[in-house]
Amino acid sequence: MASVYIHVPFCRSKCHYCNFVSVASQTRKEDYVEAVLREIFLRNHFFGSESVVETVYFGGGTPSLLTSGQVNQILNAVRNNFQVSEAAEITLEMNPEDADVTYLKELVKVGINRISLGIQSFVESELRYLGRNHDAASGVRATGNARHAGFENISIDLIFGLPRQFSGNPTLNIEQAIMLKPEHISAYGLTMEPDTILSRLVKKDKMLPPDEELSAQQFLIYMEQLRNAGYENYEISNYALPGFRSKHNSAYWKNVPYLGVGAGAHSYNLKERIWNTAALGEYIDGIAHANPSRDFEVLTAADRYNEYILTSIRTIEGVNVQFVKKAFGEHYFSHFLRQVKEYQQTQHFCEDDGVFILTDHGKLWADKITGHLMIDNQDEKRDT
Ligand code: SF4
Repeated sequence: MASVYIHVPFCRSKCHYCNFVSVASQTRKEDYVEAVLREIFLRNHFFGSESVVETVYFGGGTPSLLTSGQVNQILNAVRNNFQVSEAAEITLEMNPEDADVTYLKELVKVGINRISLGIQSFVESELRYLGRNHDAASGVRATGNARHAGFENISIDLIFGLPRQFSGNPTLNIEQAIMLKPEHISAYGLTMEPDTILSRLVKKDKMLPPDEELSAQQFLIYMEQLRNAGYENYEISNYALPGFRSKHNSAYWKNVPYLGVGAGAHSYNLKERIWNTAALGEYIDGIAHANPSRDFEVLTAADRYNEYILTSIRTIEGVNVQFVKKAFGEHYFSHFLRQVKEYQQTQHFCEDDGVFILTDHGKLWADKITGHLMIDNQDEKRDT
């Protein structure tokens, strides 16, 4: 199995919390699409001849700023250069303001079979706080339009943990989301990342920071309400109706090789992590001269162990100690068992036959626990 990710870095404006590789301009869109097409061709040996691409994902940025013709061109390039499964999951991230029925129908026609709507909130004041471009009604409208256009696999994104002042009713967003019955919901707690508009304005006392206490409350409420509505919390931030887990996300968590195309996109070939420059001009020029601006690192055993802990701990499958022993060796196995001990008495994990899965309470502490279970790469290098 293999996955292809296409990064589309253009946005109408920059959202307050955003630290993704994106630019609030579309002036180089045509050049960029040309570069993406060429990069796909230049890297068509990335996967071995045996590998079948099971997922293609257009992420951003705002991929819905591409015309359906441009999406079609890129998808054709992927199909012509790789072996793509007939049943591949092909997702496009879309902002609600772009979700008109004609465009959505064109996307269905070119082969997009899963749409991921960046709704984030159904509350006007929250959308203004987040710096989103759309209004509260467009989330509901976008979901209806996607259904009407023929999408049978719709995902919506929500953000929680905004300052209380902006969230009149802490359960309104999740109730509204459940009413729309999307097959998949991603719900993320708002964090204040460095170098964002939000962090700068909070520093100047012009904006309130995210509310961590409310974030924890909402996380637990969302989990309960979504479970009651039939959704499975298959990863800390992701919920799906039966049969609708995101294959693309699951591929990342299951150590599947993936090719990332576009500015700032990361790739993984089971041995190395490779990343394109995030600078748009540099990316376009490099590809045009068949001299891509790209960097890589060879993954050490410690890197691969850390990656496994970082991803598997967040999933419903949990951390399997026998797998740790087999894949990374005795040293990592003992390290994990030593470190996990303190959490076994505190109900952060439930353990069954060597598989450690975070409890709902444990999920609240996932980042801290992950840090504790990981191994210091520098220490490893010093020891060897
Ligand atoms: S639409 Fe997405 S990528 Fe673009 S600025 Fe907003 S959060 Fe960032």
